[in-house]
Amino acid sequence: MYKSIIVGTGPAGLTAAIYLARANLNPLIIEGPQPGGQLTTTTEVENFPGFPDGIMGPELMDNMRKQAERFGAEFRTGWVNSVDTSSRPFKLQVEGLGELVTETLIISTGATAKYLGIPGEQDNVGRGVSTCATCDGFFFRGKEIIVVGGGDSALEEAGFLTRFASKVTLVHRRDELRASKIMQDRVRANEKVEWALNRTPLEVVAGENGVTGLKVRNNATGEEELIEASGVFVAIGHHPNTGFLGGQITTDENGYIVVNPGTSETNVEGIFACGDVQDTRYRQAITAAGSGCMAAMDAEKYIESLEHPAAVL
Ligand code: NAP
Repeated sequence: MYKSIIVGTGPAGLTAAIYLARANLNPLIIEGPQPGGQLTTTTEVENFPGFPDGIMGPELMDNMRKQAERFGAEFRTGWVNSVDTSSRPFKLQVEGLGELVTETLIISTGATAKYLGIPGEQDNVGRGVSTCATCDGFFFRGKEIIVVGGGDSALEEAGFLTRFASKVTLVHRRDELRASKIMQDRVRANEKVEWALNRTPLEVVAGENGVTGLKVRNNATGEEELIEASGVFVAIGHHPNTGFLGGQITTDENGYIVVNPGTSETNVEGIFACGDVQDTRYRQAITAAGSGCMAAMDAEKYIESLEHPAAVL
């Protein structure tokens, strides 16, 4: 039996791992198919304190992982199918690892990229449709690309993709962007970016060799337009990875785990949540890391209360 299992290896899970490992609690960290979380699909991280010249996302995650391993954290690859919270210790059914038993559980499963849900989109994932500029941008050298979305992610991806593309068209459904001003200013100064604002995506158009464009509705005129491109990068946000909890942990209407204010405690004692899976507001690497520290300290205190009930207030 483990004292603590952490599900998810983004900045939240890895920070929790560092803290629990340093507390001699030998946490097990279950890694999914995208170890390191969203930061492994980003490029340079300029706002994580301690790196005045910035650091590449994958390198930052690799460093955090090594730091956790140094103190005895154990990493295993698996996919958590379900968690039984009805009795203690908690039981996890993990594909690839079987049944695992733990006194505390830290959920740091993050959030996954959303798709538009329009015709032609899913059929062409890997044939021109992507949600990861860092992963796939290289394939579009000298080509025209569309990025869909009006938030920081979309603008960041648009800027990044101009390294490869001959032109990047940013398609956003409203006239106004949601992205921060600094990001807007940066992308507006980039001559390779064209703007197709107030356009609603209708269909990804493709031929034998993959994507050829995106059909959109011009919301000002009501007309349909075809924007030609070889790639469509969808950057419209994420949804939390909470499906495996089977409704046993309280979430909000969008699936984000609800924690007791100012803590990482979920509605089930002994189960804690940190990072983007419980954060609808900040969603930053540094806030995820901070919440991972909180989850580890909350779990540590809970374990202590099991072992020495009288000593913990
Ligand atoms: P977001 O802020 O939620 O923006 C999503 C964008 O996609 C919005 O502009 C939204 O349009 C659009 N959208 C959503 N569903 C759509 C649909 N079905 N069809 C067309 N458009 C759709 O998500 P995000 O950009 O991924 O950012 C998430 C958080 O991470 C934010 O807090 C952001 O600041 C942060 N972030 C920060 C950085 C950085 O600082 N370097 C980089 C990336 C992300 P509407 O505007 O019309 O709703």
